[in-house]
Amino acid sequence: MALVEQIEDRRAETGDWRDHANCVGRTELFFPPRAERPQARARRERKAAELCSACPVVAECRAHAREHREYGYWAGESEEQRHVLGFTVAAPIGIRARQHREAS
Ligand code: SF4
Repeated sequence: MALVEQIEDRRAETGDWRDHANCVGRTELFFPPRAERPQARARRERKAAELCSACPVVAECRAHAREHREYGYWAGESEEQRHVLGFTVAAPIGIRARQHREAS
């Protein structure tokens, strides 16, 4: 059985926190479009934060994002906020990537 099938089987047996996420179908609020301006990002993340603040699986989501060093906005935290807390993504992009290159 392929790994994807095993994962799907396990999810069917146990359920998955993602099945209860408030953000289902709203991916555009959680990941930036190309060349997003700071003001647009602030507006997008404010809308995302509203969904997260009422989400029943925020703890699971936050733990997942931190553990897997995810990109984007998860559980009320931006990538930069997770970075400050020590959960830096493996390959930074944008401003942090430039800062990383300049520092090395
Ligand atoms: S906490 Fe936010 S990002 Fe995480 S599942 Fe809920 S709505 Fe989605």
